Amino acid sequence: MNKSNERDGMDQVTKAATTAPDLAVPFESCLTEERPEPCIIVIVGASGDLTSRKIVPALFNLYLNNGLPNPFLILGCARTNLSTPEFRDRMKNALKTVDILDDSKWQVFSSSLYYHSIDYEEPSSFNAMAEYLRELNKKHGTKGNRIFYLAIPPSLYKSTAQMLGKAGLSQEGEGVNDWVRIVVEKPFGRDLDSAIDLDQSLHEHFREHQIFRIDHYLAKETVQNILMFRFANAIFEPIWNRRYIDHVSITAAESLGVEHRAGYYEQAGVLRDMFQNHMMQILALTAMDPPSLFEADRVRDEKVKVYRTMRPFPTDDLQGYLVLGQYSAGSIDGKQVPAYRDEPGINPDSLTPTFAMMKVFLDNWRWQGVPFYLTSGKRLAKKITEIVIQFKEVPHSMFRAILGEHITANRLILGIYPDEKISLTFQTKNPGARVCLRSVTMDFHYHQNYTGPILDAYEKVLLDCMLGDHMLFWRQDGVELCWSFLTPILKECETCGDRSKLLLPYNSGTSGPDATKNLMK
Ligand code: NDP
Repeated sequence: MNKSNERDGMDQVTKAATTAPDLAVPFESCLTEERPEPCIIVIVGASGDLTSRKIVPALFNLYLNNGLPNPFLILGCARTNLSTPEFRDRMKNALKTVDILDDSKWQVFSSSLYYHSIDYEEPSSFNAMAEYLRELNKKHGTKGNRIFYLAIPPSLYKSTAQMLGKAGLSQEGEGVNDWVRIVVEKPFGRDLDSAIDLDQSLHEHFREHQIFRIDHYLAKETVQNILMFRFANAIFEPIWNRRYIDHVSITAAESLGVEHRAGYYEQAGVLRDMFQNHMMQILALTAMDPPSLFEADRVRDEKVKVYRTMRPFPTDDLQGYLVLGQYSAGSIDGKQVPAYRDEPGINPDSLTPTFAMMKVFLDNWRWQGVPFYLTSGKRLAKKITEIVIQFKEVPHSMFRAILGEHITANRLILGIYPDEKISLTFQTKNPGARVCLRSVTMDFHYHQNYTGPILDAYEKVLLDCMLGDHMLFWRQDGVELCWSFLTPILKECETCGDRSKLLLPYNSGTSGPDATKNLMK
């Protein structure tokens, strides 16, 4: 710790001893049935984008909704040399930027924020962090409970987890309190080998129950609702299989381009950025069997069973199962946007895919022969995330003589963004003497008739981590199975002789390369 930082930090601790942040609220108004235990959340990489845009705003919102424990502290750590007041000012600006600053509440919340600069490569720096944490813990009574949130580039996950461990910071106490958790952001590795390697490093100092592998997509209300919808209603499950379902489409389309994350995206591409995590989670929630209990490991067991059934793609016929694309210039909402290769920070000859559609088959009794079309891409016509369950046509049409052979089949849409809704399309008779059918839609909007607090995805994952609930976090076996499926595909795409053949251009503002139509035949 540098001197000014040290002095400043200690001043804050001393001050806080007399003016301890009072985050106390009546228990009934808490967002959860049980209030999380007192703790300190240590954000490693606190000078970065994720901290400003997501983590601290989520914690502030939790505070506004009375969802934080009491006492509760945030310790920001990074290389950047900041004092605690400077860190607080930064975070205040961050809340202003995302438009949630409430000046009357900021005062108390800000007194729970501290900063401590670290050098990621210097063990003594982590020893100093440990000392500072002990001091904060003693002054504020956070009971030794701590969460380390790794909001740093993935290349630093391994070494940082090891540094924390070597400084004794991964050790839990004997009692119920004094727990230690580590939150790892996506991506969990670049391929199967690196994912296993990262996991082994984490396990050198942390045990599995301490590790929280975040996928904030899972914490979206409407994603969580997939399980409620499927398993709390008796009428859907009997038809949720190959006898009644023709195909399933899962789409996560974005109209934005690569934005400010060029460095990361160039290395990742759409398969690592979206498919290895979010798309696989939605696939599992849509396709899994009902767990016996709504409990973290039972649910994760069923997801893992889905991943085990994914049929590997034949690498000599990738085009039969996968379309990859990269956006060219185009127009979105009447605005001209540049090609991916012309974006700042992108290699002008880049072969990074920004779009993918894949046709996945699950080899089990429920889903044999039913294609799951997974699509995700950047700079598409509009931002939309949805799951479409396309049912089969009626087996025999008694209206054939009057209406012809085809009757539009039923369709169920689980909308995740922008419309958080469930729609069911079915046929009805048109009023009048003539026999003719029309397709109508029954809509349910997720927030209809609900006035309580709404948790954003990062708020939910942070709250669950404080509560020690692993339900919405990845388990390592799931991570490895998904990498086992994707790694041969990535290898083929990234090493085949003519990579540009696999990568099709598409104009920004469209629905992706035309070749997707062939995949759906
Ligand atoms: P940043 O690139 O903003 O980096 C976070 C901090 O890490 C920086 O402020 C910097 O702090 C430190 N850092 C950056 N590069 C290096 C380096 N080469 N060596 C040492 N320290 C470095 O990352 P984000 O905040 O965007 O993301 C953090 C993690 O979260 C990443 O793993 C990312 O994949 C993941 N993530 C991010 C999302 C987002 O929207 N931003 C969304 C989902 C996941 P300092 O120099 O002060 O030490």
